[in-house]
Amino acid sequence: MNATLVTGINPKILPSIIRISHKSPSDTLHDDADFGPKDQKLIRDTRGWGHTSPLEFVVLIWYVEDMSRACLQQLVRHRVASYCVESTRYVLNRVLEINDLSTLLRATGNADIDNHNVETLQKLKQMYKDNPNLKNDEAKYLLPEAFLTRLYCKFNIRSFRNFLHLRADEHAHPEIRELACLMIKKLRGSLYETLIEDIITRVDSQGNGEMIGSVLGKTV
Ligand SMILES: Cc1cc2nc3c(=O)[nH]c(=O)nc-3n(C[C@H](O)[C@H](O)[C@H](O)COP(=O)(O)OP(=O)(O)OC[C@H]3O[C@@H](n4cnc5c(N)ncnc54)[C@H](O)[C@@H]3O)c2cc1C
Repeated sequence: MNATLVTGINPKILPSIIRISHKSPSDTLHDDADFGPKDQKLIRDTRGWGHTSPLEFVVLIWYVEDMSRACLQQLVRHRVASYCVESTRYVLNRVLEINDLSTLLRATGNADIDNHNVETLQKLKQMYKDNPNLKNDEAKYLLPEAFLTRLYCKFNIRSFRNFLHLRADEHAHPEIRELACLMIKKLRGSLYETLIEDIITRVDSQGNGEMIGSVLGKTV
């Protein structure tokens, strides 16, 4: 799996937005905040008070590749986000062009399951060969949950924090936890880190960072 931060609203906008609710908008102008300790304390304090609506002004757009459809159905449960997902209606018959069908599947680490999934795609490929009129809309019902997809998603930081809180946690399914940890990894050292620092502290205490690059996420 891979997750790329495509673009985002500059978090330097936040101090101005928060300060207007405190009647002190002159401290910073729009995105001119230096984002130094004073600004970061302001963000931390208001978050602590539960004044979280300013976080909705900062938005992140991600491109996610090689995610299983099993993981996709978990991701899209997060309603306060936007998604655009590759459609099997248009791409499924690409199995005809692929020699190594395992590259289209998420590896589970269980050889019996992984081999079964490859055999299923081999059957599907044969069906396309036997019946050139086979519709992708019908063929998709044969797809293993491990079939890989790609998508764009957009979160505001308030919703993204909720996503990370639930999915970077050790109780989450390993694949979506991998996505959440990967996203955190991509944000470390950036201005966005301030907005999720409390979640990063908790994730680090669970040792989740170590799972990035593990066998999870590699194809069979
Ligand atoms: C470990 C784990 C196990 C899970 N197991 C299951 C399961 O077995 N079965 C299952 O169906 N789901 C399961 N889920 C999915 C879970 O129930 C949520 O649907 C999912 O995590 C999305 O969370 P969310 O609603 O907070 O996010 P979002 O949909 O992004 O919502 C963000 C926040 O907005 C508010 N909100 C959004 N919509 C409403 C609304 N209609 N009414 C009131 N407030 C709203 C809530 O405060 C919510 O937290 C599981 C999730 C986790 C993390």
